[in-house]
Amino acid sequence: MSDFNVKLLEKLSNEFGPSGFEWEAQKILKEYVEAFSDEILKDRTGTLIFTSKGTSDSPKIMIAGHMDEIGFQVSALTKEGYLKFHQLGGWWDQTLLSQRVKIRTVEGKLIPGIIAAKPPHVLDPEERDKVVIKSKMFIDIGCTSKAEAKDLGIRIGDPIMPDATFEIWERPRISKEDTDEETKDTVTLAVGKAFDDRIGAIITAEIIKQIKTENIQHPNTVYGASTVQEEVGLRGARTAAQMIKPDIGIALEVDIAGDVPGIDETKAPARMGKGPSILTYDGSMIPNPRFRDFVITTAEELGIPHQLSLVPGGGTDAGVIHLTEMGCPSIVIGIPTRHIHAHNGILDLNDVKNAIKLIVELIKRLDREKVEAFTKI
Ligand SMILES: [Zn+2]
Repeated sequence: MSDFNVKLLEKLSNEFGPSGFEWEAQKILKEYVEAFSDEILKDRTGTLIFTSKGTSDSPKIMIAGHMDEIGFQVSALTKEGYLKFHQLGGWWDQTLLSQRVKIRTVEGKLIPGIIAAKPPHVLDPEERDKVVIKSKMFIDIGCTSKAEAKDLGIRIGDPIMPDATFEIWERPRISKEDTDEETKDTVTLAVGKAFDDRIGAIITAEIIKQIKTENIQHPNTVYGASTVQEEVGLRGARTAAQMIKPDIGIALEVDIAGDVPGIDETKAPARMGKGPSILTYDGSMIPNPRFRDFVITTAEELGIPHQLSLVPGGGTDAGVIHLTEMGCPSIVIGIPTRHIHAHNGILDLNDVKNAIKLIVELIKRLDREKVEAFTKI
């Protein structure tokens, strides 16, 4: 199994880049992968496309992972020096109170703040039992007047990211074989923010790199897109797909790890550490069934751990990729991640390595004839 660049994941996880403000993070990825790309294309939303030319120019395979993370924007400065905010992407109110954030000013300074609300001590009894909603929250940056907040360089529209620091956790995995014998392994988990979906963007880049460094022969052209503004409506993937006009699409996303107390497996069947998930349905796309089965068969033949999953309550970049021009058979491959859309997610690096292995093999096996067969009637 090829090595995975944990340092790049750490750097990109910690980096600033809410939807619409991804360029610093994009620059890091570009610097990492440009030496391995045959050509780098970009659209005008900020999506970057790293290409790998094979022995033929078709089929065009588009692989996409989105660089944007969910965040906020300053919507008002109060006279007491607090900030009101609106969300970029979907935040659940209950994950927000007492969390640290960083506001980026137009000069590029990162100002720390804390999301807060009225303390419980001053609430009426009926208020105390209710969930505090985002519109009642504010960000405390330690100022006491609007003039002080402005003096720090903050103004309406400034983007805000969650503040969380990347960590690696080594954890034991104890499993029982059929013989009742226990085996013990150690797994490496990544913990931090923005795995949704920098992990997808990084996997995309790693695939482009691996094709070059391992001199992998393939009969097509690969377009590895690090897309933008997915969390606010799949916007960068739409423009990138219009540029590429792909024949086949693979979106890389985090999947919801259902191995969390209280989750019914019919809602989120994927488990962290059990392999990349192959989505059979999401809120924005029903995958082409022949392409989906081709992916499953490839994983089975190679013995790559994988799991079938579905995300009825969410969309992915494949939602717009599969509707390019006359249509483009597409699938979504997920990295099961605990606690997405919050300050700290957890994923297993083995799932990431297996996703890379699976997709590289798909690239080797896909050709014009197979891609055409996916849509034959
Ligand atoms: Zn995502």
